[in-house]
Amino acid sequence: MEKKEFLEFKNDLEKKGITLVAVSKTKSIEEIYRFYGYGQRDFGENYVQELVEKQAQLPKDIRWHFIGHLQTNKVKLIAPFVSLIQSVDSDKLLNEINKQAKRNERTIDCLLEMHIAKEDTKFGLVEAEANTLINQYIKERKEGKNYKNVVIKGLMGMASFTEDQKIQRKEFRYLKSSLDKYNQLLISDFQFSILSMGMSADYKIAVEEGSNLVRIGSLIFGERKTP
Ligand SMILES: *Cc1c(COP(=O)(O)O)cnc(C)c1O
Repeated sequence: MEKKEFLEFKNDLEKKGITLVAVSKTKSIEEIYRFYGYGQRDFGENYVQELVEKQAQLPKDIRWHFIGHLQTNKVKLIAPFVSLIQSVDSDKLLNEINKQAKRNERTIDCLLEMHIAKEDTKFGLVEAEANTLINQYIKERKEGKNYKNVVIKGLMGMASFTEDQKIQRKEFRYLKSSLDKYNQLLISDFQFSILSMGMSADYKIAVEEGSNLVRIGSLIFGERKTP
């Protein structure tokens, strides 16, 4: 996107209270810096090594979102600076994030990634797993036992890769209803405020279904060369 188009795009989203995360995986430092120059501060990456290299070279007021599958042994590499880990899909991972956050004397915000798509290749928690993890997190936090250095801020999900918008809409609606359900059950200290759903191809539907954070890559930066 050129500057004018990008600013219009970003403004339209912000007017609706939606955060734009520019997904910069595979894109160069120069390309990222161009959008930084347009005022963009939220960027998303999928790979730990790539994120660490880019973070070191780019301005420190960038808010880095980790959106890919995260291995527990790599958490320590991003824990010093990551802004929001959107892809928490196990208690093991949440525990490790907590541990590394503590080591860095900070708190790390997280989203739980829910499996909402038809494809079983996509990562994420199914409903029963999410319920268990949320209950455990709240119980142990209330008791002051664990999870003092992580905050679960909401949910993230990826819809099916399909031309059928009805299917995608149904999946987004399900994720929104999950968020609403948790917010009815959770006491005010633990309310979920972030609903991360929507990518280049399906963000319009996601926004109609209640998304307040979209993760947009190719629409902003142009198509990625597939490795
Ligand atoms: C790559 C990626 C995106 C952005 O995809 P585009 O189709 O390029 O907008 C969003 N979310 C996740 C989790 C991704 O891996």
